[in-house]
Amino acid sequence: MLNKSKPEEMQSYLADASNLAGGHAARVVFPETAGEVAEVLREASAGGVAVTVSGAGTGVVGGRVPFGGIVLATDRLNRIKEIVAGEQGGRGTVEAGVTLADFRREVEGRGLWYPPDPTEWSCYMGGTVVTNASGARTFKYGATRPYIRRLKIALASGDLLDLARGEVFADSEGRLSIPLGAGRAIEAQLPAYRMPRTRKHAAGYYVEPGMDALDLFIGSEGTLGVVVEIEAALLPKPAGVLGGVVFFTEEEKLLAFVRAAREASLATRAGNNVQQGGGLDARALEYFDAEALGFLRGKYPSIPGDAQGAVFFEQETNAASEEQLMDAWLALLERHEAALDASWFATAERDQTRLREFRHALPVLVNEWLARHGQRKVSTDMSVPDEAFAAMLRFYQETLRASGLQYVIFGHIGDNHVHVNILPRDQDQATQAREIYGRFIARAVSVGGTISAEHGVGKIKRDYLRALYGDEHLRQMAALKRAFDPACILGRGNIFAEEFLSQ
Ligand SMILES: Cc1cc2nc3c(=O)[nH]c(=O)nc-3n(C[C@H](O)[C@H](O)[C@H](O)COP(=O)(O)OP(=O)(O)OC[C@H]3O[C@@H](n4cnc5c(N)ncnc54)[C@H](O)[C@@H]3O)c2cc1C
Repeated sequence: MLNKSKPEEMQSYLADASNLAGGHAARVVFPETAGEVAEVLREASAGGVAVTVSGAGTGVVGGRVPFGGIVLATDRLNRIKEIVAGEQGGRGTVEAGVTLADFRREVEGRGLWYPPDPTEWSCYMGGTVVTNASGARTFKYGATRPYIRRLKIALASGDLLDLARGEVFADSEGRLSIPLGAGRAIEAQLPAYRMPRTRKHAAGYYVEPGMDALDLFIGSEGTLGVVVEIEAALLPKPAGVLGGVVFFTEEEKLLAFVRAAREASLATRAGNNVQQGGGLDARALEYFDAEALGFLRGKYPSIPGDAQGAVFFEQETNAASEEQLMDAWLALLERHEAALDASWFATAERDQTRLREFRHALPVLVNEWLARHGQRKVSTDMSVPDEAFAAMLRFYQETLRASGLQYVIFGHIGDNHVHVNILPRDQDQATQAREIYGRFIARAVSVGGTISAEHGVGKIKRDYLRALYGDEHLRQMAALKRAFDPACILGRGNIFAEEFLSQ
């Protein structure tokens, strides 16, 4: 098995997209089979050596940054094993180190489709499973979780667990018994908290009464086992897509449009969109505030000068429905007084790509700005329940306007999940930005929201998870982890601080 221990060879495995500094490890190992992964873990458990699992390192919360021990890199577990087309979609089986981009290419080449869409497609499939990655299309399709049918997981003991959905469930008391063969089983007790009732949530272990054991591993951030193989459900590839970037001169009207588009979409999916008509069914509803448009104007001068915000939307179509659906969207937009003449619409693939480029340009421009000022952004990932969103957005805006700091607000408004990026110009402003971030977290928690809707907790959001669930529930999470990993070797420092493991 390949091993790397020279500093210059290991460097890229000691960090991720969070810029968390100080990562260090004795060596990086590159197993090529599930058996080799299991062997590494068996030895590490015996020796009490910490193991940090590495995917592609695109995570933004420091989850794969090691602080001691070894790194287990999944780069060489990179085979696409099978893609099977059926009547209504299909299934694909891949090893954990296959990139999302490679999987999507292979799947789409066969007329199939895999909906999970985190913006950064260089991530590995294993990484997307253990972070339950989501993205713009999550509004219609959910996060990664619903597409996972089976996982092969190497446990800290060196056992290989092949777990399919529908095989093992928790009982009504939250007890879980996962058979390992030869009469052995993992006996675990689920923590007693209830997860926030938000449309998206990616903070701490997934816990539901009577839940499927498979769901515990999805979103477990490298702390319960190493995912080595994934079987994912695939859908038929959509025939066409229509989309638009629509501008509004009044934010109230923008928010009313989003509410109406969301309600109509949910009604269509529930099969009762008779009143709203038109079969509107957005797969993405994304927001840009006035500050974000200000950032984008340099690159896109045709953004109207009086626009106070914009929404990017997409809906799937076919040849028979395209015209009627476009009319339905235009009618809804007109009703909410969007600046229709100044807005941009697309049905052809090439124009679609331009709209998506617009959507993706903002984070790039923000990062360039930060690089110029030698600062790091302070970026939120909270989501709140439907009824709390408008007030939360107002709280963000009023607090930030009063602060005098530069900021942009954008993202997944369909799921009440916008990212606030605060852009400090110097150290004093950075301190001020972090203090404001703490106030945003407290407000989100107080209205029933989550501290992380998609990026996870990793090492840099642990204190906020503590604010969400409290110490007792963190201890229960640590006890659950110990049931799977008695020597506590895996993903140390992720989700909760190591002090909880010794309690
Ligand atoms: C520009 C940019 C945009 C992004 N946009 C989104 C977005 O829209 N939505 C979103 O959800 N995320 C987004 N992300 C975050 C990131 O892409 C996702 O979290 C991704 O799923 C991480 O995958 P990775 O392979 O890079 O994992 P890594 O960063 O390598 O690891 C992430 C965590 O998973 C663990 N891990 C990795 N592989 C395994 C495995 N096989 N078994 C067990 N544990 C493992 C690691 O230990 C770590 O804790 C974005 C990141 C960037 C840089």
